[in-house]
Amino acid sequence: MNFELISPETTDELLKVISERRGKRFRFGAGGTDLLLELKKQPEKDLTVVNLANLNDERFTSIETQDDGFRIGALVTAGGIAANHGLKKQFAVLCEAANRLASRQIRQVATVGGNLCTASPAGDIACALMALEARCEILSARGMVRTIPINDFFVGVRKTDLKRDEILRSVLIPPNNESKKIYSDFIKIGTRRSMECSVVSLAYHIQADEDDKITHAGIAIGSVAPTIQFVKSACDYLAGKNFSSIGLSEAEEFAAKVLEYASPISDIRASAFYS
Ligand SMILES: Cc1cc2nc3c(=O)[nH]c(=O)nc-3n(C[C@H](O)[C@H](O)[C@H](O)COP(=O)(O)OP(=O)(O)OC[C@H]3O[C@@H](n4cnc5c(N)ncnc54)[C@H](O)[C@@H]3O)c2cc1C
Repeated sequence: MNFELISPETTDELLKVISERRGKRFRFGAGGTDLLLELKKQPEKDLTVVNLANLNDERFTSIETQDDGFRIGALVTAGGIAANHGLKKQFAVLCEAANRLASRQIRQVATVGGNLCTASPAGDIACALMALEARCEILSARGMVRTIPINDFFVGVRKTDLKRDEILRSVLIPPNNESKKIYSDFIKIGTRRSMECSVVSLAYHIQADEDDKITHAGIAIGSVAPTIQFVKSACDYLAGKNFSSIGLSEAEEFAAKVLEYASPISDIRASAFYS
């Protein structure tokens, strides 16, 4: 692999580096766990890698509570998410997904931003953030900021809505409603327990009142379609039902609604039938 590496330390420097490279070949790199493999397989000529890992800007690097939920910087690692008590208490699905990603070593460098921007249908953190209906905060080389729903961020297999000169800065997770009960988890099936992307995954974040009546359901599935799918009609089906008394026929109807969003293909990890 042969590329120029530039490591800006401030956001101003970063924006300058991008503006100077208009019309030239460059890629962003954070943890490098996806990027380096990709460049090894498909080397690019005259490439500059703009390394984001040294950026000293809290909007990229920190996890913060805000009035309107949580802000997680794109450079926060999977390990950083898994260890955050505030997130664990409120959004268990996200911490479990981060904790199931790859291995302890990879989790120390693999970032939220990298997981989203790779736009793999098997992205674990991305799947959890989809269930949480997060929003993506995007910064352009001109310093403009736009925010879009995560569902609009993924536009195809390994394709995002990002323009060439745009960077994902943070993800914003809306707060839980006044719910008394939260059922939140991430389920991943792979060919082995660690160091493996999922064959199929499901992230759910279900909120209920004190009588266990579902007030909001957020559910997403991964690895079974070109992009991670928010299974809206299945979420709508659950709203208003009593969580603890959902019976077999309702569970089957729910499962059928989830399956409407799945269009698996046979690939290296599993056959379409298995998925
Ligand atoms: C052995 C192994 C096992 C793995 N297992 C899993 C797994 O179980 N689950 C899973 O989800 N993933 C897994 N992965 C994939 C990978 O580790 C994750 O997707 C990780 O979160 C990528 O983050 P990164 O910081 O390393 O991204 P990088 O490799 O640095 O970047 C990935 C892509 O995103 C772009 N990018 C990064 N940050 C930004 C940004 N802020 N703005 C714009 N573009 C950006 C880069 O240009 C690049 O195209 C595995 C990878 C390996 C090598």
